Amino acid sequence: MKASTAKSFNKKLACPSSNLLLSFQRRALAPEINLLVKHHLAGCDFCYCEVPLLAFYALPLRGECRTPDLPINLRVLAESILGKDNSEEVPEPHFQR
Ligand SMILES: [Zn+2]
Repeated sequence: MKASTAKSFNKKLACPSSNLLLSFQRRALAPEINLLVKHHLAGCDFCYCEVPLLAFYALPLRGECRTPDLPINLRVLAESILGKDNSEEVPEPHFQR
């Protein structure tokens, strides 16, 4: 079979979002929307394959996404800049006439 005869296997504009498919997979959708997604899955290979994959998706736990530590050279730079600003008196802005 030539590749050009195969249907393109990718997400299309009409496809439901991965978030929606995730809700579908978790049976968290309203019955009407659930029916629409089911109808779409019958005709879309990509989404049909995405749903079982989403079963492996785990929501990030609270606090799991903490910000990374500041690299030490950036910290030194930031402290030198901020330290300088704090130690010096910031002159009051004055307007010339
Ligand atoms: Zn689709």
